[in-house]
Amino acid sequence: MTHKNFKNIDRVTYGRGSFSQLGETIAPIRSENNRYFVYIIDQYFHGKDLHARLQNQPEDLIYYIDVDPHEPTTEQIDQLRDKILSEKGLPSGVIGIGGGSIMDIAKAISSMLTNEGSSTLYQGLNLIKKAGVYHLGVPTISGTGAEVSMTAVLTGPEKKLGLKCDWTVFNQVILDPELIASVPTDWWFYAGMDTYIHCIESHNGIRNNAFSLAYGDQALHLCREVYLNEKAGQSPDNDDILMVASLMGGLSLTYSEVGVCHALSYGLSKIHGTRHCYANCLIFQHLEDIYPQGVKEFKEMIRKHKIELPQNVSKDWDEATLDKMATVSYNLPFMWQHAFGDNYKEIATMDYIKDLFRRL
Ligand code: NAD
Ligand code: ZN
Repeated sequence: MTHKNFKNIDRVTYGRGSFSQLGETIAPIRSENNRYFVYIIDQYFHGKDLHARLQNQPEDLIYYIDVDPHEPTTEQIDQLRDKILSEKGLPSGVIGIGGGSIMDIAKAISSMLTNEGSSTLYQGLNLIKKAGVYHLGVPTISGTGAEVSMTAVLTGPEKKLGLKCDWTVFNQVILDPELIASVPTDWWFYAGMDTYIHCIESHNGIRNNAFSLAYGDQALHLCREVYLNEKAGQSPDNDDILMVASLMGGLSLTYSEVGVCHALSYGLSKIHGTRHCYANCLIFQHLEDIYPQGVKEFKEMIRKHKIELPQNVSKDWDEATLDKMATVSYNLPFMWQHAFGDNYKEIATMDYIKDLFRRL
């Protein structure tokens, strides 16, 4: 198929306090399968006020997961899936409450509950054989767009690659801006900049089109309100805006493509374990020649929020390390083609990519 036939989320609830509608939203689904729900929640919320507001039933299973040691792995998904099935069989649905990491875990678990074998078998496009169970996402940090994307990014023994098909997309998301109020300022900045960079990259390449530009323009406008205008900063009003920006940034890139920053970011994350949004910020500051306007504005936002990004990180990387990083990035041809056009191979050589990494 030449044109993407992209699957959007089925339903969206948005607004302050909308989390309180979770119970009634999932009530009709409770009659499915073994009549219970699995909650997968960021460990940050353990013992916090949210725990008392889950609207769970006694039969439900609740797992708190610490996302800080590492990004979601295939092994982690397989173990959790086996545990859930051996404890109570197939649930009515899965609810993910947390950042991009928890969104990806919830999406992956939903599909792996009905597809046999290890999740490593399904890393890629349209490899999943059967529909998963109902799944609902409640983002608590905004920026990655994982709440709307078709991908559940997993790191496996061989590759960092998403499970991706129509069934990975959430059946429902609940966007409650009250939930992102507690995000620490540095993460608020890095994650929001992921949205900003999604839009800059989506716009600046051969795959952009009226659909991606419309969502991207609006998301950029919203990012400027949150990070640049006179009322910029973390506030309830800006949290309302940022949640929508994240969604729209995700929709923009879904119908276009990301570019040079994301291609490099995958190389940096795979080899050094650097977190996605932070990795993008480390890289984007050095891409002035490729995205002049975007990087100029990004630097204004850095200054405004007094964010300090480390410099000279590449001094510790030898040739072998640079080779490994560049290989990961080189093997993302769609991103390079989008950024540089059909003759991208003449520009994005291994040497060129290694030089980009040396700028860091
Ligand atoms: P995250 O889920 O990794 O969380 C970052 C930190 O914020 C954690 O310490 C977490 O505990 C904390 N946190 C979350 N919500 C909080 C809150 N309300 N208050 C206080 N602390 C809170 O963050 P992320 O940047 O949203 O997600 C990164 C992950 O998303 C990576 O694993 C990346 O691979 C993935 N990703 C997926 C997609 C996709 O399309 N599926 C796109 C981009 C990135
Ligand atoms: Zn991103």
